[in-house]
Amino acid sequence: MKFSTKAIHIGQEPDKETGAVVPPIYLTSTYQQDAPAVLRAGYDYTRSGNPNFTNLERTLAALEGGAHATVFSSGLGAMTALISTLKAGDTIIAADDLYGGTYRLFTEIFSKFGIKLLLADLSHSSAVEEALARNKPVWVIFETPTNPLLRIIDISMIAALARKHSVRTVVDNTFATPYWQNPLSRGADVVLHSATKYLGGHSDMISGTLVTDDSGLKAQFDFARKALGLNPSPFDCWLLSRSVKTLALRMEKHQENAIAVAQFLTARPIVKKVYYPGLTAHPAYKTAKKQMRGFGGMVSAEFNLTLEHVRRLVSSFSVFTLAESLGGVESLVDHPASMTHASIPQEERKQIGLSHGLVRFSVGIEDKADLLEDLERGLRRMERVL
Ligand SMILES: *Cc1c(COP(=O)(O)O)cnc(C)c1O
Repeated sequence: MKFSTKAIHIGQEPDKETGAVVPPIYLTSTYQQDAPAVLRAGYDYTRSGNPNFTNLERTLAALEGGAHATVFSSGLGAMTALISTLKAGDTIIAADDLYGGTYRLFTEIFSKFGIKLLLADLSHSSAVEEALARNKPVWVIFETPTNPLLRIIDISMIAALARKHSVRTVVDNTFATPYWQNPLSRGADVVLHSATKYLGGHSDMISGTLVTDDSGLKAQFDFARKALGLNPSPFDCWLLSRSVKTLALRMEKHQENAIAVAQFLTARPIVKKVYYPGLTAHPAYKTAKKQMRGFGGMVSAEFNLTLEHVRRLVSSFSVFTLAESLGGVESLVDHPASMTHASIPQEERKQIGLSHGLVRFSVGIEDKADLLEDLERGLRRMERVL
């Protein structure tokens, strides 16, 4: 079965009892038991399970090509469940341009429990090999493409090195989505998603998931959800089940518009650099081409402007809304240094090349001409000021 058919049919079967083509929302916290601890369908309390979780998990596992998925209250909820499987003294190696919220989760919360985070540049195999040998981590965690610099990390290269050292590989696949990239098929052990983004696709809910082939890990993730209270709401899962049906269509349009935006920005003199993995000028274009079927809808650009002018620019668009988050049908613009990545210390931001001039565009699925006109108007205004 191909991607779109899976998205519409797996975990989305008509309700057996009523024939309802769309499975209902099970808004219940608890379930009647036939005798003490004798469960009719395996459910006892919604913190540990709900038919809407199960339906969605079947869909998401199928889309990632994995055996199991567990859904959570948010992407960071999923990350919390993952980290809760570790113990004091364990080390994690992560890519040095980690999502700000993930970084904060480690440095502000889990560092207090003795879990060590080590940031490393994961683009060179020799450096990765050395970091693995020296630090004996339990996991290697990275995003690809990364947020917001859209760097590409070679999944099969990292997974092969990690396996050699008995280290597990976790890939945050939020930016690519399973439509463009399936990290499990390249050797990753776990895939994480902030389902809030493209999977949800409409900026109307928060959720996350972990996908794996390992049934032992699946059991640990389910347990963490129950024990830590990281469950999503049945309604949000139902919304997600609805949203993923159109993921393929949306991603094609996001990409078509993103390519147009990337090309538009490349041609402007006040733009110093455009970051989009689908541009042949991208330093890891070859790796992107190898491991992705497409390049997604996120475009970042570094502007040759003062901080004050960049802040004015991002506030001046009318179709691109100034807001955090990404992956929805509507186009958003973000100033990482003062918004999504403000929790990363300035020194570290500088080290990874995240400057005050960087602007991130989540290119939506509006009409392309309207998006380009909006950008044209905003950029022309700034060019006049200069
Ligand atoms: C948003 C995001 C997260 C966190 O997910 P939430 O659903 O906001 O908790 C993690 N990783 C990436 C790449 C993200 O963009």
